[in-house]
Amino acid sequence: MTKPRVRFAPSPTGPLHMGGVRTALYNYLFAKKHGGHFLLRIEDTDQNRYVPGAEQYIMDSLRWCGLQWDEGPDTDGPYGPYRQSERKDMYRQYAMQLLETGHAYYAFDTPEELEEMRKRIESEKTGNPQYDSRSRLSMKNSLTLSDAEVQQRLTAGSNYVVRFKTPENEEVVLEDIIRGTVKVQSWQLDDKVLFKSDGMPTYHLANVVDDYLMKITHVIRGEEWLPSAPLHVLLYKSFGWESSMPQFAHLPLLLKPDGNGKLSKRDGDRLGFPVFPLQWTDPYTGEKSSGYRESGYFKEAFVNMIALMGWNPGTDQELFTIHELMELFSLERVGKSGAKFDPEKAKWFNHQYLISTPIEEVAKDFEKVLDGKGLKTEPEKLLKITELMRERVNFVPELLTQAGFFFEAPENYDENFARKKWTPETSVFLLRLVEKLNLINPFYAEEIHDALQQFIETTGIPAGKLMPGLRLALVGSGTGPEISQIMAILGKGESISRIKRAAEKIMV
Ligand code: GLU
Repeated sequence: MTKPRVRFAPSPTGPLHMGGVRTALYNYLFAKKHGGHFLLRIEDTDQNRYVPGAEQYIMDSLRWCGLQWDEGPDTDGPYGPYRQSERKDMYRQYAMQLLETGHAYYAFDTPEELEEMRKRIESEKTGNPQYDSRSRLSMKNSLTLSDAEVQQRLTAGSNYVVRFKTPENEEVVLEDIIRGTVKVQSWQLDDKVLFKSDGMPTYHLANVVDDYLMKITHVIRGEEWLPSAPLHVLLYKSFGWESSMPQFAHLPLLLKPDGNGKLSKRDGDRLGFPVFPLQWTDPYTGEKSSGYRESGYFKEAFVNMIALMGWNPGTDQELFTIHELMELFSLERVGKSGAKFDPEKAKWFNHQYLISTPIEEVAKDFEKVLDGKGLKTEPEKLLKITELMRERVNFVPELLTQAGFFFEAPENYDENFARKKWTPETSVFLLRLVEKLNLINPFYAEEIHDALQQFIETTGIPAGKLMPGLRLALVGSGTGPEISQIMAILGKGESISRIKRAAEKIMV
């Protein structure tokens, strides 16, 4: 394959949905696998939908995921600028070219006239209620008005749009790498607006012109753009660019966890998982939407999970580094049917990364969480706690929820547990144990474990009467890792002081 040039072409209309990240990822992997180029193009021609901060958010998200573009708005690529608003002046000539070659026409219809036409077709049931090869001849455009009248309107500065003149009877055939041959009859398509009198192109014109000028070889994008693809094919033909037409690959939808419909932000809110890579604050309402990064996901886990939403390697392997993905990825292994999002599986991925990431890195992340709460501990102890606890959690911040007792002695004791497990003799047993603990040297988990065993054997105090109370004294609840491990980390002094405190405080 010649080196592909692919692009991710988001519109900055809000935060990037995880489906958008997947589109970017598949473009990136495809480019890297074949030694090609990955471009970022910002499609911001629709000023009405422009949302401040969205472009920055998109770039931050891609960077967080490690999807660095080779050419984009902030690079000096040979085909720039890469922000459509900065290319505005280039599009007019292409609209003119289509007008001159008879592939497009001026239309002057008012919104009321358009509405009237739709209603009329609906009531007459004569076809699709749209501006198309049938209805255009009853509308106000350069096909129905005289040349003089058209000129007069243009010089008078009337509002106009340039519409594509869809061929009346043509079978549009498109080879999609994922979907195979897609055929559409041109009479079903409407005459889309390509350009407006304010000098702005619409998505269709700008998108096709830029793909052509930027020498894009493969258009890899979401399924929602499949209905636009026949028009894009017709545009390539009308411009005479057929030989440089890119290959298309329309990716399957991301579906709700129950498989019913497209995954939306509302599902995330309802079921408690992020749908955005990074936290997003709506600039107008101030409303915050959660992000994978802020929810404690490793970027590698997020990318790994996203990679498998639509693509499969053909084996059972589920964990991949980005380099493995680059090697293995192929569009041929992307499915047609929607990919169901499974929030539990997302957590599973994170857990896998949490237990396999070098312990020092996890500890560093954990330290940041502790810093945020004003908690401190020595580096060696931090490593030990991280090592001991990470098997039990999915996210780094959860380490604190699960291991908070290492940093602060319990203030309260789980009442339910105490009622069941703490008897008046527990305090007596524990105070006897303190004498034994005082003698342990070094105060390591193994030594503690043996001492506890010995204590149980020599005193005849049943383990069931001692251990739950001991746990309650050290942790404050009935949960947590192995007791001797906890004591070794807390140290002799702290362990003994917690036991004494509990012996005094807990009364049942
Ligand atoms: N600007 C479009 C979007 O927001 C791009 C679609 C395409 O890739 O052609 O998704």
